[in-house]
Amino acid sequence: MAAQVPHILVVGGGYVGMYTAYGLRKAARRGKIRVTVVDPRSVMTYQPFLPEAAAGSVEPRHVVVPLRKTLKGCRVVTGRVTGIDHANKVAKVMPEEGPDYDLAYDQVVVALGSIARTLPIPGLAEEATGFKNVEEAIALRNKVLDRLDVASSQPDPALRKSALTFVFVGGGYAGVEAFAELEDMARYATRYYDNIQPEDMRWVLVEATNRILPEVGPELGQYTVEQLRKRNMDIKLETRLESCEKGHVILSDGDEFDSDTIVWTAGVKANPALASTGFPLDEKGRVKCLPNLRIEGVEDAWSAGDNAAVPDLTSETGAYCAPNAQHAVRQARRLAENILRVVDGQQPQDYKHKYVGSVASLGLHKGVAQLYGVKVKGWPAWFLHRTYHVSRVPTFNRKSRVILDWTLALFFRREVTSLGSLQTPNEEFRRATDS
Ligand SMILES: Cc1cc2nc3c(=O)[nH]c(=O)nc-3n(C[C@H](O)[C@H](O)[C@H](O)COP(=O)(O)OP(=O)(O)OC[C@H]3O[C@@H](n4cnc5c(N)ncnc54)[C@H](O)[C@@H]3O)c2cc1C
Repeated sequence: MAAQVPHILVVGGGYVGMYTAYGLRKAARRGKIRVTVVDPRSVMTYQPFLPEAAAGSVEPRHVVVPLRKTLKGCRVVTGRVTGIDHANKVAKVMPEEGPDYDLAYDQVVVALGSIARTLPIPGLAEEATGFKNVEEAIALRNKVLDRLDVASSQPDPALRKSALTFVFVGGGYAGVEAFAELEDMARYATRYYDNIQPEDMRWVLVEATNRILPEVGPELGQYTVEQLRKRNMDIKLETRLESCEKGHVILSDGDEFDSDTIVWTAGVKANPALASTGFPLDEKGRVKCLPNLRIEGVEDAWSAGDNAAVPDLTSETGAYCAPNAQHAVRQARRLAENILRVVDGQQPQDYKHKYVGSVASLGLHKGVAQLYGVKVKGWPAWFLHRTYHVSRVPTFNRKSRVILDWTLALFFRREVTSLGSLQTPNEEFRRATDS
C-alpha cells in the first residue's frame, strides 16, 4: 500500500489561502503533499481593484481569480468551514447544498480574513451596503447609475435630492477610493442627462477621526481632503454616523438629510468564525501567531493575513502586521515555504517585511501614493497605482485582461450603462406570469 502523503487543509481561499495553495501546488502535483482549499466562493477577489471595478474601469470578472483554474493540482471545495477540532485534526465543512461533513487533515492553514467592523447604528443593517466583494462593487455601480435615472425621471425635488445624495462612512483606502472613483464615474455620466448637473449631486464622506487615508501618511491624507473638496465633495472629519433609519441620515455634527445610497467602509475585524476553531485568539479576536506563522502553542497549525496577529519583526514597539494585502501576499509565500520545509524535516523561517507604503486611486488620472517614503500626487500617483496593482494581481491571464480593459478605455468613451435590473432578474417574468 502506498504511504499516505501529508494532507494540507487551507481554510479560506482569499489572498492568504490562494497564495499559500499556489505556493504548494507544484509539490501537490508531484504527489509530495495533498492540498485542499475550502471557501464559500469559487474565486479569490483582488480587492484593491474593487473601486475601479465599481467605476467601470475594469471588468468585474477580471478582478477575481478562479480558484480551480489557478490551483491545478489542489482540490477546491466550495463550502464553509464551520468548526475545527484540531485535537482530532478534523474540520467540519458545510457545502453550498447537502449535509455537513468532516474533512481530516495533517496540517491546517487558517486564512479566514476579516469582515466589516460595524456598529449598532439604527438603520445601518437595513439601509447600508458594504464594499468588500465583487458583488457589492457591481451592485453599488448599478445603484449609483440607477439613482441618476431615478432622479432624472422624478419631478419631486425631495425624492430627487435623496437619489442624488451618496454617503460613504469610513476614510481608509477602501472607502476613499470607492468614494472618489464612483463620484468620478457619476460626474462623467451626468453628461448624458439633460436635467442633472454634477453640482446637483451630493457626495458625503463621514470619518470619525481627524484624517483620511492614514495609509499614505498625514500630508497626503490632507492633500486628498483638499482635492476631494475641490471636486465639491463634502468631507466630514471628526464626525460619526448616528442613524440612517429609512435612509434618513443623522450625523454627529447635527447635519440631517435623506440619502438612497449609504456605503459602510469603516474598517474590518477578524472573521468571527475563528471562535469555532478553538485556536488561541488575542483581544481583537485574531489568531495568535509566532513570527514563523505557526499558531501559538499548537502543532501543525498555521495562520496569516487579516485574521492573524503576526508580530511585525521590523517594529521596535512590538506591534503586529497591519491587515493589508501587502502583508497577506508575502506572509502566504513564507507560509507555503515553511510548510514545505517542515514536510522536509527542516525548521520554518520567520516572516519579516517592512511596509513599503500605499497607493490610492481617486478617479481617472488622479491619485496619491507613498512608496519607500517618497510622496507622489496626481497623474503620476494614479499611474503608479495602476502599475503597482497590475504587477500584483495574480496570474498572467488576469494581468493581460486588466491591461486590455484599460487599453480599450483609451479608445472608447467611458461605459456608464446601468444594469440595475441584474439584481432582480426575474421581475419582468414575474409581471408576465401575473398578468
Ligand atoms: C475595497 C478594498 C480595497 C483594498 N485595497 C487594498 C490596497 O490597496 N492595498 C492593500 O494592501 N490592501 C488592500 N485591501 C486589504 C486586502 O484586500 C486584505 O488585507 C486582504 O484581502 C487580506 O487577505 P486575507 O487572505 O487575510 O483575507 P481575504 O482575502 O478576505 O480572504 C478570506 C477568505 O476566507 C473566506 N471565508 C470566510 N469565511 C469562511 C469560512 N467559514 N470557511 C471558509 N472560507 C471562508 C472568504 O470567502 C475569503 O475568500 C483592500 C480591501 C478592500 C475591501
